Amino acid sequence: MAEQGVARAHDLIYYGHDTLRKVAEEIGDVNGEIISLIDSMYNVMYRSKGIGLAAPQVDVSKRLFILDISEEEGGKGVSLELINPVIRESSDKEGPYNEGCLSVPGIWEEVTRPLEILVTGVDREGNEVEYEAKGLLARVMQHEIDHLNGILFVDRIEDYIRNELRPELKKIKKLNHRT
Ligand code: ZN
Repeated sequence: MAEQGVARAHDLIYYGHDTLRKVAEEIGDVNGEIISLIDSMYNVMYRSKGIGLAAPQVDVSKRLFILDISEEEGGKGVSLELINPVIRESSDKEGPYNEGCLSVPGIWEEVTRPLEILVTGVDREGNEVEYEAKGLLARVMQHEIDHLNGILFVDRIEDYIRNELRPELKKIKKLNHRT
């Protein structure tokens, strides 16, 4: 059904929801629909006090994420949105960081990832962009790009830790059924 001219309100979905497990679709055209999706995602992210959000987390299976780490790293961080992002290079050097996720609320675990990456994509003006990212920026980008491939950070932790989290994850699944 077409809802022309009506901006759809987006809500978070949680661990256990099918959309979080799909490989998201490439975005063809950065049109008005995509721009209003981006704006809506910022609303959801700020409301939930997150620093990154991928479109699948609001039940839209498209290759797009936003992030805002402008308050982090001593106020030197950035805010950006990236469409069809691709990681071109990853450093051999990896490190741990305590990650959380708006779709897996209340759980924080150490995840090891490459410390530096080279990422390309398209911005909201439709321009090709490239980022050499390190630190928190590289971390958040990799976490969000994982979402576009149906991967959650809890997939990247040790099996025994995930097993211990099972009761909590079960509770989080139920958040999807709230009315
Ligand atoms: Zn996440």
